Amino acid sequence: MRRIILAGNWKMNQTPKQAKALLEELKNSLPATRHTVAVFPPYLALTQAVAAGEPFLVGAQNCHFEDKGAFTGEISLPMLSEIGVKAVIVGHSERRQYFGETDETVNKKTLAVLRAGLTPVVCIGETLPQRESGAYADVLKGQLCAALSGVSAQQVPYVVVAYEPVWAIGTGVTASAQQAEEVCAMLRGQLGLLYDADRASQVSILYGGSMNAGNAASLLEMENIDGGLIGGASLKPAEFAAIVQAANEVKGALV
Ligand code: PEP
Repeated sequence: MRRIILAGNWKMNQTPKQAKALLEELKNSLPATRHTVAVFPPYLALTQAVAAGEPFLVGAQNCHFEDKGAFTGEISLPMLSEIGVKAVIVGHSERRQYFGETDETVNKKTLAVLRAGLTPVVCIGETLPQRESGAYADVLKGQLCAALSGVSAQQVPYVVVAYEPVWAIGTGVTASAQQAEEVCAMLRGQLGLLYDADRASQVSILYGGSMNAGNAASLLEMENIDGGLIGGASLKPAEFAAIVQAANEVKGALV
């Protein structure tokens, strides 16, 4: 069975001290759950997040695909792994937009994260013009195939896919539950073609883009939406707790 994952992408927010306080607040606010609660703080707060322990699975927002070398300013997977990081966001649209990430680097990072034994959270998403022109299905299939090039059938169940329409990230505009489900079902179908239906059914596909306490239940109710990658709302303990609670209510029983 695929995992349900509620993942907070903190982006470039929270100093280490602030992170410690936020983690404490989150711990006190979150309901008990059998689902996976993940946090992706900035690099400098990763140690605090790992030290916070249960219930958090801790991930990084980026990594380099090489293990070491002359890549000034970069962070490698062995460094992340050694401090207890278990997942890495790969190809977030902000990295594609502002830091020159391409389908090729996203693929290299995806392969490197899997090789290191961590979970890649591979982000794909269409822009507003691509949505409005109707080209979005082809764009998304292309991004997915490119990201997974060279990923084996044995490895693919360890990949998490995050569908994040660019027009919904940080804008307050959310894809409707139907729009998000249509895409997530299509992506699962594409995984079935690339691998097989059984493998496709094991991949967690998250929705991301202005998910909040008000819209989480309707999105998470959808069959092919296995959780959320949550930006702004993950920094607000009450909001994030309400999203986890919504997952508890629509995706199955509590612990
Ligand atoms: C994100 O950063 O992945 C994201 C979905 O942000 P927000 O929830 O703020 O739209």
